Amino acid sequence: MPEFYFLRPSLLSTRCELCGDVGYFSSCVCDPCLSDLPRLKDHCSRCGMVLPQYADTCGNCITTIWYADLTICPFQYHYPLDRLIQKIKYQDCLRLVSPLTKKLVSCLTQNTLPEALIPVPLHPYRLYSRGFNQSVEICKILNDCLGIKVITDLIVRTRNTKPMFELGAKQRSRNIRDAFRLTRPLGYRSVAIVDDVITSGATANELALLLKQAGASRI
Ligand SMILES: [Zn+2]
Ligand SMILES: [Zn+2]
Repeated sequence: MPEFYFLRPSLLSTRCELCGDVGYFSSCVCDPCLSDLPRLKDHCSRCGMVLPQYADTCGNCITTIWYADLTICPFQYHYPLDRLIQKIKYQDCLRLVSPLTKKLVSCLTQNTLPEALIPVPLHPYRLYSRGFNQSVEICKILNDCLGIKVITDLIVRTRNTKPMFELGAKQRSRNIRDAFRLTRPLGYRSVAIVDDVITSGATANELALLLKQAGASRI
C-alpha cells in the first residue's frame, strides 16, 4: 500500500480552536462551533448599533451624523467570538481569519458589494508591534471570495490613538478626530470600510466622513 495513504489523515485532520474536537474540518473551527457563534440579528442598518428589534435606523443615527450608508455586522462581540478575535490580534492566530470572514461573506448580497475595500489603517507603530493589520487580513479573504479590489495605501493614520476599548463613547469620537489622511484622490464611488470590531462606530464614522469628502457616494 502506498505510504501516502498512512500520512494523509494526520496531515488533514484539524483540532477545533473552540471545542478541541479533532476531525476533517474545512477550517480551524468545526462547523457546529461556527454555526453556534453569536449572530447579530437586529442592528441598525446604517450605523450597526445593536437594537432590541429590527429598525431601519436608531437613536444613535438621530443624535449623531452618520456618514456610512450601510453597516453589515454578522456577529455580536460575545463569548466565544471575543476569544477568537483576541487570539487573532494578540496571539497571531491568523488562521482564524478565514472561517470568520467566510461567515461575513455569507451575509452579503450582490447589491451590497462595493467597488473597493478599504481596511481601517493601523498607525505604523502599532503595525510594527503587531506585525500585521487584522483588517487587511480580513480584506485578503474577502478579495479571494469576491474578487473585490483591496486598497491599503489610500489612507494613513497620522496619530497613534488610544485603544477605543479604554474610552467612553464621547471620548472615542474625540480620540479619533482627524486621525486619518488621504494620500491621493479616491477614484471610486462605492467603497466599504473593513474593520474587525465595531463598538461606538467612531472610527468608521471618521473614515466615512473622509471618504464622502473625497467623493464617495456610497459607503
Ligand atoms: Zn468546535
Ligand atoms: Zn444607527
